[in-house]
Amino acid sequence: MKQLILKKGKEESLSRRHPWVFSGAIAKLPDGLEEGEWVEVVSAGGETLGRGHYQIGSIAVRMLTFGDEPADDALYAGRLEAAFRLRQALGLVRPNNDCFRLVHGEGDFLPGLVVDIYGDTAVMQAHSPGMHLNREAIADALVSLPEAKIRNVYYKSETTLPFMARLDPQNGYLIGRYDGSIAVENGLKFSIDWLKGQKTGFFLDQRDNRRLLQQYAEGREVLNMFCYTGGFSVYALRGGAKRVVSVDSSSKAISLTQANVELNFPECDRHMAEATDAFKYLGAMPKGEFDLIVLDPPAFAKHKSALRNGLQGYRRLNAVAFEKVRPGGIIFTFSCSQVVSREQFRLAVFSAALQSGRKVRILHQLTQPADHPVDISHPEGEYLKGLVLYVE
Ligand code: SAH
Repeated sequence: MKQLILKKGKEESLSRRHPWVFSGAIAKLPDGLEEGEWVEVVSAGGETLGRGHYQIGSIAVRMLTFGDEPADDALYAGRLEAAFRLRQALGLVRPNNDCFRLVHGEGDFLPGLVVDIYGDTAVMQAHSPGMHLNREAIADALVSLPEAKIRNVYYKSETTLPFMARLDPQNGYLIGRYDGSIAVENGLKFSIDWLKGQKTGFFLDQRDNRRLLQQYAEGREVLNMFCYTGGFSVYALRGGAKRVVSVDSSSKAISLTQANVELNFPECDRHMAEATDAFKYLGAMPKGEFDLIVLDPPAFAKHKSALRNGLQGYRRLNAVAFEKVRPGGIIFTFSCSQVVSREQFRLAVFSAALQSGRKVRILHQLTQPADHPVDISHPEGEYLKGLVLYVE
């Protein structure tokens, strides 16, 4: 394995087990090092700090081992098995729940890799050239996992790999084939389309928050804004909502939502869905029509450069919801922008509350579920933030 030498003093973040080496920390790259190759990272003083996958860009190495721990392709099987054991311990692998995130990148000590499980299919995304080059070995390890019963592995990295890497990833099955399935989440059925859907086909990260919403739904009139596959809507219906309206700008998302409602509540007359822009819908909506509103928009700030505009977006969106929600109403509001901190999001929502003149209290502070764990050395792994608010 080639050796990459760091500048003096730049070993500090690795000694805290942060798994990224930034390009600015490198004193000397070995000759002929290829993108995606394993590399041994060495301090200026000659000490081995660990091993990881090299790539061109601001994050130059994603570390998979620290200190003397060896690194080779056998590592994937062990890490995947540990990840699966954790999901079993979390109670996510059971007859009435067969979908969960098996690998959450750094949070499962596999930086650059995401794997979501839907029944007997694993949908795998590489975010780094290293994981891309190892995709076959990882897929083999997935179907060999004891007890996991994975039979198909779909690889979906066309949009997640660094564009400049020119790896030309093709979406497709690495093992088996099974186009779309009905997954079960907490006893509710969802039709998952990993071929055409966003991300891996479903937002597993809202599972716990959807269940919390169900507890508040009884007798309420619910607006599920940015509904995508209708997860919150289906839980609200199970919770006894009087009426649920699902809104998304994508007509594909609206069809998915309607199909998922139909799967669980055939001929349901409490649900309605509309394909339209969120701001347009909220602007035109009469005051007091809903007493439970969900706002789960796409990331408004995808990069640090978009932070200011993103925060403005969250403020504007929440301000209309505050203005329109019925007195005694509840708002579930989220941000999945990694660059927006919990505190910044709360401040944006606070400004919106002030602007609306409504009296607002925080009932719950929400985050991502336990199958999206955060490595304590890598706080950047925390991305989902949510607030449940009571509005007088
Ligand atoms: N709440 C969903 C996930 C939402 S993802 C769940 O639990 O699964 C964000 C969704 O917002 C996408 O489906 C996207 O189509 C939709 N969207 C993006 N911009 C929008 C806009 N301006 N108005 C309405 N919907 C929008």
